[in-house]
Amino acid sequence: MLTLIRNGEIYAPEYLGKKDLLLVNDKVGFIEDHINLPDRFVDIKVVDASGKYVVPGFIDSHVHIMGGGGEGSFKTRTPEIQLSQATLSGITTLIGVIGTDGTTRTMPSLIAKARALEEEGITCFVQTGSYQVPLKTLTGKIEDDLILVDRIIGVGEVAIADHRSSQPTVNELAKIASAARVGGMLSGKSGIVNIHVGDSRNHLKLIEEVVETTDVPLKQFYPTHINRNPHLFEAGIEYALNGGYVDFTTSTIPQFLEEGEVKCSVGLKRMLDAGVSIDQITFTSDGQASLPHFDENGELIGLKIGMVSSLYKEVKDAIKDEGIPPEIALKVITSTPAKILKLTNKGYVKEGADADLVLLDKESFDIDTVLAKGKIMVESGKAIVKGTFEA
Ligand code: ZN
Repeated sequence: MLTLIRNGEIYAPEYLGKKDLLLVNDKVGFIEDHINLPDRFVDIKVVDASGKYVVPGFIDSHVHIMGGGGEGSFKTRTPEIQLSQATLSGITTLIGVIGTDGTTRTMPSLIAKARALEEEGITCFVQTGSYQVPLKTLTGKIEDDLILVDRIIGVGEVAIADHRSSQPTVNELAKIASAARVGGMLSGKSGIVNIHVGDSRNHLKLIEEVVETTDVPLKQFYPTHINRNPHLFEAGIEYALNGGYVDFTTSTIPQFLEEGEVKCSVGLKRMLDAGVSIDQITFTSDGQASLPHFDENGELIGLKIGMVSSLYKEVKDAIKDEGIPPEIALKVITSTPAKILKLTNKGYVKEGADADLVLLDKESFDIDTVLAKGKIMVESGKAIVKGTFEA
C-alpha cells in the first residue's frame, strides 16, 4: 500500500518546511521536496496536505485504557477507552496503566485491551503493576515481565506521596527500580518506572532518597501529575533542574484549576522559563481516570472521566496562548516520550519511522487527518475507522 502526502509543511517535530511524503505500507518511505509518480502507477492513495502541517502521531504515555477509578465504590469504576477517542485526539500510541485498583483490574486484562487496540490499528504498550507495593506483576517478577512479554515496556504507576499509596519505603522503591532497570536492559526496552505523585508535601522526596542512597539513576523514574498543585509543581522544577523527567497531566476539571492545579500549557512555559530542558518534559492525559468532584464539605458530588482529548488541547494552548513555537511544544507528546519510552520508530516524521502522522490545519491548529501505521483513521476531523463496538 502506497500513500502520497503532498504539499504539507512538516514539523518532524523540528521544522522541515514544505515536503512530500511517500508512505510504504506502515512506514514513512521517502521525504522529498517533490515526489513525482507516474499517473498510472500502482494503486496509490494521494492526500493533499496543502494548508496543513504534518506532525508526528501523538504519544499518550499514561492512560487507563481498560478503565480505572472505583475510588467511590464499584459504580465509579470507569469504562474502557474506545479507538476513536484516541484517533480523534491525534493519538496513535497509547501506554496503558492500571491505577488505584490492582484487584479487579489485572495485568491479563490490561494486555488484552492493549492487543485489542493494536488489532484496531493503533500502537499500544503497557506498564506492569499498579499503585500498590509489592507490585502485582504478570509473571511474578518485574524482570520477567519486561523480558518475556512484548507489550510490557516499563513499571507503574506506583503511587508515592499519596494517602492511597501503600507508603513504599526507600528500599522497596529502590528494589523496583533496579529490577526495572535490569529487565529493561536485557529486553532492549525502557524499563522506566512511572510514579504517581499525590498531593502530600513529601512530593518527590522518596525518589530523591533512592537516588542519593543507591546506584539507581534519577532518569530511571518518570513521575507524573507534577502540575497537580502549586507546591508539587515548584518541587518538580527543582527535580527537573537536577536532571529528572517530569510529566504533566492534562485531564482536569474547573474545580481542580480553581484549587491551584497548574494548567499544562502555562506550566510548560513556566518550566521552560525556569531553564528546564524540553527533552525532560512530557504531557499525558491520564485518560479514563476518574476525576472526583467534591463539595466544600468533602462530599462527593460528581465524577468526571479523564479525556485523552485534553492531551493535544493543552499543546495547542501552549502554541496559541503561550507563544511556544510548535517545534518545541509538540515535543512533549512526540519525540520526548518516544525517547523516554525507547519507542525508536515513534515520535518523529522521518524515513523508516512508523507512518503515524497528524495533519493540522495551519490556521486553527485543529486536527484534520490522522494516520496510524500508514492507515487513514481520521479524515476532515471525522473518524473513518471505528472500534469494534463503536456505533
Ligand atoms: Zn495517577
